[in-house]
Amino acid sequence: EAFNARVVGAKALNAFLVETPDHALTAARAADAARAAGDAPKPLAGVPIGMKDLFCTAGVQTTAASHILEGFVPPYESTVSQNLWDAGAGMLGKLNMDQFAMGSSNETSYFGNVISPWRRKDGGNAPLAPGGSSGGSSSAVAARLCPGATGTDTGGSIRQPAAFVGISGIKPTYGRCSRWGTIAFASSLDQAGPMARDVTDCAIMLEAMSGFDAKDATSLQLEVPRWEAHLSPDLKGKRVGVPKDYRVDGMPSEIEALWQQGIDWLRDAGAEIVEVSLPHTKYALPAYYIIAPAEASSNLARYDGVRYGLRDLPDGANLQDMYAATRADGFGDEVKRRILIGTYVLSAGFYDAYYTQAQKVRALIARDFEKAWEVCDVLLTPTAPSAAFALGEKSSDPIAMYLNDVFTVPSSLAGLPAMSVPGGLDKDGLPLGLQIIGKPLDEQGVLNAGLAIE
Ligand code: GLN
Repeated sequence: EAFNARVVGAKALNAFLVETPDHALTAARAADAARAAGDAPKPLAGVPIGMKDLFCTAGVQTTAASHILEGFVPPYESTVSQNLWDAGAGMLGKLNMDQFAMGSSNETSYFGNVISPWRRKDGGNAPLAPGGSSGGSSSAVAARLCPGATGTDTGGSIRQPAAFVGISGIKPTYGRCSRWGTIAFASSLDQAGPMARDVTDCAIMLEAMSGFDAKDATSLQLEVPRWEAHLSPDLKGKRVGVPKDYRVDGMPSEIEALWQQGIDWLRDAGAEIVEVSLPHTKYALPAYYIIAPAEASSNLARYDGVRYGLRDLPDGANLQDMYAATRADGFGDEVKRRILIGTYVLSAGFYDAYYTQAQKVRALIARDFEKAWEVCDVLLTPTAPSAAFALGEKSSDPIAMYLNDVFTVPSSLAGLPAMSVPGGLDKDGLPLGLQIIGKPLDEQGVLNAGLAIE
């Protein structure tokens, strides 16, 4: 009932890049047939979900919202999407996103920005960003176009868009979901995860998406826990850490108040609240914006006009000219910015000053968390330092855009499970999210704290 969206047509949100109703219908028919035959229902029997366009889907165009992959139809299925189909789900379509998952507002998509279904209560009709990079996923789920969607999170791309539109989303421990067949951004950080209306739906979807995969060398060789079966909002005996270093300058008082409210909710659920210190937090954002572009510049070298998608071959061009023309035309500005930063920090003269230094910072951040786990079981923070901003508000200032990731990147650098759940509305009637960060492999602790807030 708090959903104050001015109802806009589903198409106007620009959330879907490709629609695949037949895929969803086939899954629904299979679910009906299984029920008629008396078979035990699969966990996602017939559920139509949206698939972020970073996941390769066999026979269905997959572009990562880029021009360079326009027309690319993978002959193979990503492990995560295959796992979802095996669990009975069907695909409603491929979802818009920031180009190659680089961005926090979905404005870097080659196929146009996505619009959030939310509007400010009294702030006119300025269309708002759905967050990013999984902005098609967040917008589609918030607008009830699908009950759940896949997202990927390299530095916050599941959690921040979930927070911006008032839904839940979890990034599991690095290695839970196979990266095979998911277009790579920054391989040491990329993780898939679900975005859905509530914690229970996230648990069900995550169970289906996770699991060991020999095709991903960083996949964790572990059984998938029964997260849904063990959901409980009772936090008796649990300790919730509140990291004082997340109180950043200029954080709106409403976000402070939301954080306090979240602390109270978790205390009411039986948890003990402890203050913790994560002293290297302030270095996380600069370290992330060195490491992620470094890995991206390497991963994106494969788009050469030969193997996939676009090829620009000017008259009389040699091979070098073809590479240059294809990449100049095929990559958007933000992607080029990341390639430039990445190749710079990896270059011989600057490697030690930037890349090595950033890796050291990454280790210090991971150590901060390890120390925190000595005194608490989960951490509670806001998900983002602001509510959804207007489209265009930050798109000409990359640094302002990067700053929106301040609370989400530390747990990404440490590979920890982290979730955003809706916390309430601000004075403009816009959703704000609370983030729960957990110990390695403790998705259950994260989900349970999320349930206590929900
Ligand atoms: N906003 C961050 C970036 O642009 C995170 C993106 C992501 O998690 N994919 O790099």
